[in-house]
Amino acid sequence: MNRPWAIYRLATQRSVCRALIAGVAIVIALAAAPRKLYALAAAGPLSAVALQELLDGNARFVGNRPLHPNARPSNAKQHPIAVILSCADSRVPPEMIFDQGVGNIFIVRVAGNTYDRLAFESLHFAVANLGARLIVVMGHDQCGAVAAAVKTYPDPKAGPMLANIYPAVAATRGQPGDPIDNAVAENARLVAQRLAAEPALAPLVARGELRIVPARYNLATGAVTVLPAK
Ligand SMILES: [Zn+2]
Repeated sequence: MNRPWAIYRLATQRSVCRALIAGVAIVIALAAAPRKLYALAAAGPLSAVALQELLDGNARFVGNRPLHPNARPSNAKQHPIAVILSCADSRVPPEMIFDQGVGNIFIVRVAGNTYDRLAFESLHFAVANLGARLIVVMGHDQCGAVAAAVKTYPDPKAGPMLANIYPAVAATRGQPGDPIDNAVAENARLVAQRLAAEPALAPLVARGELRIVPARYNLATGAVTVLPAK
């Protein structure tokens, strides 16, 4: 074999070798991908994965670089990653705040982000039938419902919207700081605590299969902060 041909063959063999190595690497990577997802789920409960997804989406929203995922109509089966119990305030739209799209989050919105039986059955439906393993109870600053509750407390004639916020007002009365801000945070914590104690949810929470977290949204910055649970 003359020398140029030998060099050519060697080069070809090396190229084939490199291609084979690259191919094997791709196969290994593809094989590892499901394991990586499994490892992610195994590293923390699904609720932790869902919460991180929401916080990542919120970081995109705050940074004005939203991905607008799933922004198309869909009639596919729904598997929302989380339930959001949010205030009805027009400045607090969960899909935008968390940069989520069609089918991603199951939302119940009530002024003051509290719940009654009707709202609870909606929340519970998403957990029991759609597989959601995280509930976020999200209050926000300048909440008109909380401000009204602080102003009117204790009014025995108050309707359920304000009466449901009164426990948070009662718990924060006399505390240093802004009474509305204090009540907003306390309201989210108390509602999350009350949800966790619901007989239909408590066993799931106890087994670590469902996480319920209080949070608050900042109107000016767009940032969502997870609050320490009570
Ligand atoms: Zn509000």
